Amino acid sequence: MKEGIHPGYKECKVTCACGNTFMTLSDKAEMRVDICSECHPFFTGQQKFANRGGRTAF
Ligand SMILES: [Zn+2]
Repeated sequence: MKEGIHPGYKECKVTCACGNTFMTLSDKAEMRVDICSECHPFFTGQQKFANRGGRTAF
């Protein structure tokens, strides 16, 4: 019996532009993102980027 993981998928270290890192499953070893669940207003309900020089990536 195989484990319940998609073939070819492995743990992937994701580094966000906000400095947060987290693990996910991907076919890549690591990747970078501009937005994560820690800093995206959609998830946090806050406008953190509004206080960071107006940098917006979306
Ligand atoms: Zn982030």
